[in-house]
Amino acid sequence: MHYYNPNCFEQTEVWGENILLQNPYYRGKIEIIKSLIPPETRTILDVGCGDGSIIDQLDRKYALTGVDLSQTAIKLAPPDITRAVCSSTLLPFADRCFDLVMCHDLLEHFPEDYILKTTKEIARVAKRYIIISAPEKENLRARYTICDKCRTICHAYGHIQSFTFERLARYFPDFSCQDPIRCGEVSVELRDIILRIAQKLGKYYFFAEHSPTICPKCGHKIKIDRQRIEAGKSNHLRAILALVARKMRLIYTRGPYWIICPFERKQEA
Ligand SMILES: [Zn+2]
Repeated sequence: MHYYNPNCFEQTEVWGENILLQNPYYRGKIEIIKSLIPPETRTILDVGCGDGSIIDQLDRKYALTGVDLSQTAIKLAPPDITRAVCSSTLLPFADRCFDLVMCHDLLEHFPEDYILKTTKEIARVAKRYIIISAPEKENLRARYTICDKCRTICHAYGHIQSFTFERLARYFPDFSCQDPIRCGEVSVELRDIILRIAQKLGKYYFFAEHSPTICPKCGHKIKIDRQRIEAGKSNHLRAILALVARKMRLIYTRGPYWIICPFERKQEA
């Protein structure tokens, strides 16, 4: 069920044209990230920078470097920053050579061994600070979508991991994080068991409005079911059902989508 397919990220459709910046929650998240950069920071590395949608928003008083495995994405990243195509599991930089290393919306796409290697590399090249962000406690099933060509069921954003603050902190034993920040959309979701039934019987799937999903199996760009999105928003019967579901505790409101963790290297004895 859970696919990890790096080839998805070579597709031009998922990058450019400020796709992520069209999402107001994403813009809000970038503002928080900017506010978390410690004042003495001079050099910043963004691991998995994609097309540079975050790093491009940072002040050019910093020396900025962005890396990503996707050549397609790196080509679209701003040309006035240092860019490189490389794997996050093997960063071509010396130990502790960036004041701050950031990594956003990357780890949730990875199998566990990639997460371990990537976080180890981030900790190695970070001199003092790390900022990590990922969806918090994501119920992956709530964003399952379906390919209209081959009927493969996959996560609309390709996520295969769900994180808690404790889990993220465990990857950085030499760093401490005092105050994680939560941001993003607060959404209503069906309880897992109801979701399973709704998806089995009612084909209740999610369609990403802001960024297209490329089917990990056949490579088809999954068509957004506009009718289904609109029906979900306006249908009175659905609204009544939602009310009943809430009364019966079949749906719940989940907290803000992302958690942002600003880490600082622990004092060495
Ligand atoms: Zn497909």
